[in-house]
This record gives sequence, structure tokens and C-alpha cells, in this order.
Amino acid sequence: MNADPSPSLCSSRSGPQTDLLGLDLAAFRAELRARGLKAQGLAAEVWTDAFRRGVFEPERAGLVPKVAAAWREAFFLRLPVPRKLISEDGELGPTEKALVAMADGAEIEMVRIPMPPGPDGRERTTLCVSSQAGCRMGCAFCETGRGGLVRNLGAGEMVAQVLAARLLFGWNVRKLVFMGMGEPLDNFDGLSAALRVLLDSRGPAFSQERITVCTSGLPAEIGRLRGLGLKRLGLSVSLNAPDDQMRTRLMRVNREHPLDGLVAALAAYPQRASFVLGVNYCLIPGLNDRPGDAARVAGIAARLGRALVNVIPYNPGRAPIGRAPSDAEVEAFVSALEAEGVPVRRRATKGRSIMAACGQLGGSAYGGGAPGAL
Ligand code: SF4
Repeated sequence: MNADPSPSLCSSRSGPQTDLLGLDLAAFRAELRARGLKAQGLAAEVWTDAFRRGVFEPERAGLVPKVAAAWREAFFLRLPVPRKLISEDGELGPTEKALVAMADGAEIEMVRIPMPPGPDGRERTTLCVSSQAGCRMGCAFCETGRGGLVRNLGAGEMVAQVLAARLLFGWNVRKLVFMGMGEPLDNFDGLSAALRVLLDSRGPAFSQERITVCTSGLPAEIGRLRGLGLKRLGLSVSLNAPDDQMRTRLMRVNREHPLDGLVAALAAYPQRASFVLGVNYCLIPGLNDRPGDAARVAGIAARLGRALVNVIPYNPGRAPIGRAPSDAEVEAFVSALEAEGVPVRRRATKGRSIMAACGQLGGSAYGGGAPGAL
């Protein structure tokens, strides 16, 4: 199994080609310097144009053909051509899942989640981005986890999903959640490079509060993420069980990283007073909605500081570990959390018919597999 990202499409006289979409402007300038390329004063124009239009055409910024050709040899820009599947319409518009083939054939998926329209009436989208092809975390309720990890995505391959969504699909992407295939903190270097690009004001220009990283719970990497100093970046955790025994049954990661250490890392994460941690709780009847579970979740939430619990109804995939909860069961759990004084939100299940709902990415690409072991 190769966990390394696909670094380049081909080599040139000046070394392997570098994925332009994986470089923020400062990194692009450094790479031009390192390669000794001419016309470095035009770096910003070329880089910004590439991100605006999704093509790398240094000539447009005025480079003479010979120099432009040398730049082309050094860098590539590849937008994947996604195949789109459309789910049933929801209240806010269709949830859509796109299968995306990387240059080496690895397949990932990204999902458009409709948001309420903006003040101008235009549709708006939250894009669910993948950080890995497959995933090694093996959560029992998740389709992606069944196929194991194929490889990490490079930063450029993560950024390319956003550009493809905007430029090829015309989606008005307002928010990003790293909640597609993969555990983003398991690909920390790729993720942090992608964040630098996405936040660059001369390029994609996302603000930190419009990006959320979702983790299954890797304490050391949560500390590393904090170390990036991105104080307004969103963070959410997939909790899914309030005690180690049940959490280990649902999430293998809990064996190595039990709740105590995870909660300590999360409690130490906030870098601003207004930070609110997202706590995702995939509700599986009979497993994590036992009497007392809501009170135990409340106990954890109290240790986390400001937190908002998102209750997500379980979506049975190809190898279900249980059934979907009824509306009454979801309401009962939400009410029990509210009674404990926990800020809580019930998340609607969108995209179930195309396997685009939470925990279902990878179902079509990786073909199901063995039933989840609980
Ligand atoms: S839920 Fe997330 S971390 Fe767990 S196996 Fe699926 S993709 Fe990986």
C-alpha cells in the first residue's frame, strides 16, 4: 500500500514537475527561485490567473515564449473531470456527489451540500472535500473505512476539488468541510499545505471561519493543528459514543487514542473566546442511544468548553451495523441532550439515495466489503 501522494505527472530537465495547486504564492515564488527560472517578478500575476481560471498559462502575464515554456516544464495544473451523480432534491436544492479520478486512477469523492441562499438570492454550497483516497481509520459505520487507505492526497489534489467544483460545476462554494473520504489529520502535511493555499488572499481566498476540519480523534495532530496558529479555523470531532467501550466498537481509532486523551486535546485546542467545537454524533439505535448516554455526552461536552453537538441519524450503507433511527428516536436523544443543557442541533440526512450522506462516501468506488465488525 502506497500512502504517498502522487507527486507529479512527469519530469522535466529541471526536475519533477510540481503541482501548482499545492503551492501558495510564497511557496510558488520559492520554487521559482529554487529552479532558477526567469521573470520571477511576474509570479503573482501568473499564480493568481491560474487559480482564477483553472489553467496555467504564463504567457498571459507577458512571459516570452521561451521563459513560459520553462515555467510549463516546471509546473503542472490539473483539474480532475468529475462524474456527477445527483440525489433527490431537498428543501434547499439537490445534494450532489461527484466521483473524481486522480491522475494515477485513484478515485475520491466530493459532495455538494446546499446552503440557504445568500442575500442576493444565489444558491450557495458547502463543499465536502476528501483528504485521502480511502481511509485507514476503519470506523464501523463508514463505507470509506472498509476499503482501507489507498493513498494520501497531495495538497494540490485537495485544492483541485474546490476549483473543479467552482469552475467545472459552477457551484458557488462558500464553505469547505474536510469531511469527505479520509482522516484529514492523518495526512497532516498535505492538509496544512492545502489550507495555506485555500487561505491565500491572492488565490482561493477562503476565510478561516469558512473552513472546518473534521477529525475522528487524533490527539497529537489536534495539537499540531493548533500549532498552525489559525485561530478562526473550524474544528469538529466525530464523537459517536460517550464511553471508551462503545467508542472502540464503533471507531477503531479509540483503541489507540481513548476518550480521556482526546477530550484533553480538544479542550486545549481553542485559541479564541468565541470558538465553538463541533461534536458530531452519528445516532445508531440500540448502540449509542442507551439510557444515560445523553447524560454522558453532556459530561464530555462540559469538559470541552463551548461545543455544539450535531446529532446525525445513522445511514445504513451496504454493510449496515444497525438501522436508521426513527424521527422519534432522534427527537428523544436531542431532547435528552437539551434537558442536560447541551447546545444541540439535529442534522438532516441528505443525499442518502446516492450514498453521499455522512459515513457513506466510498460506497460506490470501493464496492462495500465485509460487514462492519462491532
Ligand atoms: S468516518 Fe472518517 S475517519 Fe472514520 S473511516 Fe470513515 S472517512 Fe475514515
